[in-house]
Amino acid sequence: MEDSIFTKIIKREIPSDIVYEDDDVFAFKDISPQAPVHIIIIPKRQIPTLNNLEDQDSLLMGKLIIVAKNIAKSLNIAEDGYRLVFNCNENGGQTVFHIHCHLMGGRKFSWPAG
Ligand code: AMP
Repeated sequence: MEDSIFTKIIKREIPSDIVYEDDDVFAFKDISPQAPVHIIIIPKRQIPTLNNLEDQDSLLMGKLIIVAKNIAKSLNIAEDGYRLVFNCNENGGQTVFHIHCHLMGGRKFSWPAG
């Protein structure tokens, strides 16, 4: 599989503003923020879409959510609230085919999403 742009970011081949890293998970600031806080949280393993997840990925995906929560707390947006978004394929608006969670906060979001 060809490296995704996010794998290139993990490998430091493309610069990013890194927020968090461990053995399995990586997080960096979105280059085109849609909110005062907009962080992208990804598994280091390149999984193209949510449709490619398997049962054994449940721990990894759970870890992704825990990292998102911890970042939200560390950036002081947890109490006011925030939004986590996973886009999948065309109708979901996915443009980078490496599973990622958008952590957005620092403003109020409307619902239902447009
Ligand atoms: P999605 O549309 O859900 O696939 O989201 C992809 C996100 O990746 C968008 O919000 C982009 O702004 C963001 N993005 C794309 N390239 C980069 C980059 N080089 N550094 C940081 N964020 C990026």
